[in-house]
Amino acid sequence: MEIDRRQFLVMSGAVVQGSVLASLGARTLLGGIADSSGRAEPPWHQQIRRIGQLNFNERDPVELDIEAWADYWAGLSVDAVLVSVTGILAFYPTQVPFHRRSKFLGDRDLFGACAAAAKKRGMKVIARMSPDLNWEEALKPHPEWFMRDASGGFLPHAEEPRLYRTCTFSSYFTEYVPAIMREVQARYDVDGLFTNAWPPLDGLPVCYCDECRKLATPKSPEYWGQFNERVAYLWRFYDKIAKEKKPENLFFANLGGGIRATPNLRRLAEVCEWFNCDNQGRGGEGAPIWGAAQQGRVATAVMKGRTVTNVTGAWSTCGAVRWRNVAKSRAEAEIWMDQTAASGMTIWYHWVGAQSGLGEDRRWQQIGRRYMDWLKRHDLHFERRRTVANVGVVMGQRSHLFYTPPGEGGMQQFTDGLYYALLEGRFLFDFVHEDDLGPETVGRYSALLLPNIAWLSDAQCRQLRDYVAAGGSLMASFETAMFDENGRRRENPGLADIFGIESAGPVAGPNGNGFYARIERPHEILAGFDDTGWIPGGAYRLPVRAAGQPVLSVVPAYTAYPPELSYAPVSRTDEPAVIVRESGGSRLVYFPGDLERSAWRSGHTDLSRLIQNSVAWLIRGKQPVTVEGEGVIECFAWETWSGFAVHLLNYTNPNMHRGWLRRHYPIGEQKVRMAIPPDRRVARVELLRAERDIPFRQDGGTVEFTIPRIADYEVAALYA
Ligand SMILES: [Zn+2]
Repeated sequence: MEIDRRQFLVMSGAVVQGSVLASLGARTLLGGIADSSGRAEPPWHQQIRRIGQLNFNERDPVELDIEAWADYWAGLSVDAVLVSVTGILAFYPTQVPFHRRSKFLGDRDLFGACAAAAKKRGMKVIARMSPDLNWEEALKPHPEWFMRDASGGFLPHAEEPRLYRTCTFSSYFTEYVPAIMREVQARYDVDGLFTNAWPPLDGLPVCYCDECRKLATPKSPEYWGQFNERVAYLWRFYDKIAKEKKPENLFFANLGGGIRATPNLRRLAEVCEWFNCDNQGRGGEGAPIWGAAQQGRVATAVMKGRTVTNVTGAWSTCGAVRWRNVAKSRAEAEIWMDQTAASGMTIWYHWVGAQSGLGEDRRWQQIGRRYMDWLKRHDLHFERRRTVANVGVVMGQRSHLFYTPPGEGGMQQFTDGLYYALLEGRFLFDFVHEDDLGPETVGRYSALLLPNIAWLSDAQCRQLRDYVAAGGSLMASFETAMFDENGRRRENPGLADIFGIESAGPVAGPNGNGFYARIERPHEILAGFDDTGWIPGGAYRLPVRAAGQPVLSVVPAYTAYPPELSYAPVSRTDEPAVIVRESGGSRLVYFPGDLERSAWRSGHTDLSRLIQNSVAWLIRGKQPVTVEGEGVIECFAWETWSGFAVHLLNYTNPNMHRGWLRRHYPIGEQKVRMAIPPDRRVARVELLRAERDIPFRQDGGTVEFTIPRIADYEVAALYA
């Protein structure tokens, strides 16, 4: 009987429940199986390391120097290029009705000429389509293609009012889009089909067309189910069309948006072979630097080793003011590509339009060339097998889509507050999807963290209970499991029995001050709070009751102004501000407050420390990799096909939380200590950015080495 890798992990997951060392041991066994049977040849798209895209605009049929375009991408050793077919404007002489040709096309065939030039240079060609919009002239003959508002009106595009939004549930997606796909495949040598802007990225569509009126209420969990069905159906349908051309061809689409993605990513990952993140740069003011790395963790959680790409927009992506046709800073583009590579995704480098890209602003070209020149010298170490991590952060898509936490600040702030604390604590962690809490996935983690995952079904709560019963540790906060998967509020949180709590009233908010946490008795999670009796608790809290003397008690919120009144009328209560328990081999921590969000919004270092201490206590201080040194870094560790790789991203920068990086600020020595299976002998440790070997020491299952300096990014490759 042949056991594939996934089945093996399923089997081993049951055995190694909760134990990092045991799961590292399992990887050795896994290596044994893979080695004896030989590594199966992965599909072509899992082998690609670089992708290039010059997104066409309407003028490009007359602007684009096709040879220069193809030479540039070939010079970067990209394995594939995106070439626009579109659906809004045709870049080839289409015969499909309502596929309007670019007014500059004339008798040219831009798509065909580019596809041929790419093929001549050995690059794969992905036909890019955009099925989200069509022109006003299609409204009368095909009103059924378009989205409608509640009063029956069509939905014009905000920037170009001659374009209207098309409906995912309409025949536009089952007739018009497939007609273009088949026309392109009949005429050209393409390797895959890609849709931009579909599935919809900016939240669930709200449409009142005839088809959508048959569906559940817009933005309801029931509608989400129907939406996910439709997306999966169309994805499979388009993939079947792609395979009509060649069996190794495929269809894929944009699935970015991090945890806030619209489709159920776990569900869609069962259907898709390739997950593309259209997460091109930091969006909005005050966006933290780690957007691409966090996106990588989301995609890795659901794709489990299959193809994941992330687009780096070399253009000015900043959310507040955008410029499509001038370059962003070199340092910002670099750190985005660093994060993409470190978190397990393939870099897809992107510019818009030939007029600027090959003419007016050519700075992006050199940034991309320099980066890809480096990357292609080290491709070996980016062929990954699995992450090395012992902490899992549960991502709750339902909570992100449907639940609004009481008070100011949304779900993303809970994620970011926890994320920042985990970076400060230099923990190795993965994301775990809420619909993937079975032992085959969560069994490899010593601890799971639930940052206010408010919506959890009874079945999901049961899986978490099983995880704890098998020795796993758990941390949760605020309204975690207060609601079921349809948003029905429970009397007590769904995990109340695990934490030994019961609800004691409605959510309480701040009153000038947030609430305080009074230290009642010593505990490891309070390490470092030596000279104080009070620390911040949070802004909002779910009052709970629990037996026994609390470690921290709640001092309720009170007036902040005027200072004359800023004192606690009740300076001590028996209401717990944290629940800390041990049960069998598991350790359990529950914070009734909005701890992560308050940590994010306030920046208070006590709250971050409390999170870090709690996570360290949960995992008994044991980490598969520790990194000691100055600076704010993000760590990833991978088992690769040539051994192991430790990736360190240097975020120590005045622009970590705002604007773009102006430059990198190098940090000094980082001492790395990694646990590996004792029978794996490390032959060499190579720094891929510094491009030199460094000394190391192996003592049984422990490898130690020091990285002397990191500018933006370093990868220590362990040949083992
Ligand atoms: Zn509709």
